[in-house]
Amino acid sequence: MIPVGNSKYILRVNKRKVLNLIYNSKTISRAEVTKISGISAPTVSRIVDGFIDERLVEEVGIGQSTGGRRPKLLRIAASDNYIIGIDLGTTNIYGVLADLNASIIHEEKQPTRLEEGFYSIMEQTSEIIEKLSRQTAERKKRLCGIGMAVAGLINKSRNIVEFSPNFHWHDVDIVGNLSQKFSVPIYFDNVTRVMALGELCYGVGKQYKNFVFINVGYGIGAGIILDGQPLLGSVGMAGEFGHITVEKDSQTQCDCGNFGCLEALASGQGIARAARDELKKGTQSVLMEMCGGDLNKVTAEMVANAAKKGDALAWNVFSRAAEYIGLGISALINLFNPEAVVMGGGVIQAGEILFDNIRKTINARALNRSSRGVPLLPATFGLKAAAMGAVSLVMNKLLNLELECFLQKQKS
Ligand SMILES: [Zn+2]
Repeated sequence: MIPVGNSKYILRVNKRKVLNLIYNSKTISRAEVTKISGISAPTVSRIVDGFIDERLVEEVGIGQSTGGRRPKLLRIAASDNYIIGIDLGTTNIYGVLADLNASIIHEEKQPTRLEEGFYSIMEQTSEIIEKLSRQTAERKKRLCGIGMAVAGLINKSRNIVEFSPNFHWHDVDIVGNLSQKFSVPIYFDNVTRVMALGELCYGVGKQYKNFVFINVGYGIGAGIILDGQPLLGSVGMAGEFGHITVEKDSQTQCDCGNFGCLEALASGQGIARAARDELKKGTQSVLMEMCGGDLNKVTAEMVANAAKKGDALAWNVFSRAAEYIGLGISALINLFNPEAVVMGGGVIQAGEILFDNIRKTINARALNRSSRGVPLLPATFGLKAAAMGAVSLVMNKLLNLELECFLQKQKS
């Protein structure tokens, strides 16, 4: 006889298998689920009926008959269930409302009140969540959860942001704060790992199970996916790619306090700072005109535009940053042997000028032909990568049955 605990466990494994099969097929019949999963037909039927009752799966249309009655097809009840994804950035707080197929239903954005500190930013985030929740209620849909992408070191075991140099936060409890207002499950993780997870669920992950996601924006980070799973590290801090030292004797200090970090030299703020330093030395550049003589107004975007126009100063600043990023990526390729490197974040919008220079450095540094051949791809969702990744954070929990209790309570 199978012990009770064991049979519960087997049922859970089977339920997960069935739900993932349905999710990964556009439509599928009960007979096909039975055949592919190897689970008995009565058990499949019982599990499917449970999911239909929970409003996670729905029956649609009529499939091909293999003799006898033509079967109804199953699919995930994507348009009945919504997820909120929040990209908690230092420049903007951007929120999306998406269905279970990752189609965006509604978006909200506010410039981050960075200087006002944690509680004010949490209030802004709440406002965005409230607006998106209202949209959900008006459309009579169910909200399954809220996912958030945050820049910083996340301590998974304490469920807090332990340190965020960009926000200047130490030990802040985002979930504790927001769950006072919202009763749906809330999940968060480091922005780059969240972006990598989004790619795994909805983007390049359909092709690759081993890839590295590099985020170059205000800061720099890496999300490492190995065998289809994000690499967390012992407490969830793996992937702090921006804080590897790439220039040992550098005078440029990073937000983390060290000198010569990749992030200090090649992130959006690093690029703007390098251009400013060159301008201060009196180097001629169209940037002077573009910023109206106010060096504080120089941004990475401005430098990219000047470089595209053929400005020598801007071009040099950009190719140096690309070289540093390429150095870092070569190290990651040599360490993890990925099938692809995916690049996201604001700075990546500079396009070919950055990609070409990074590629050149990788080709010069990578160990062998297969490393040199690793595809360098832009992020699937462009500037929406973090918000869509945040959506996938909840989707992942849902497919893993971690939202079961909550969804059962919210059936109607
Ligand atoms: Zn650093």
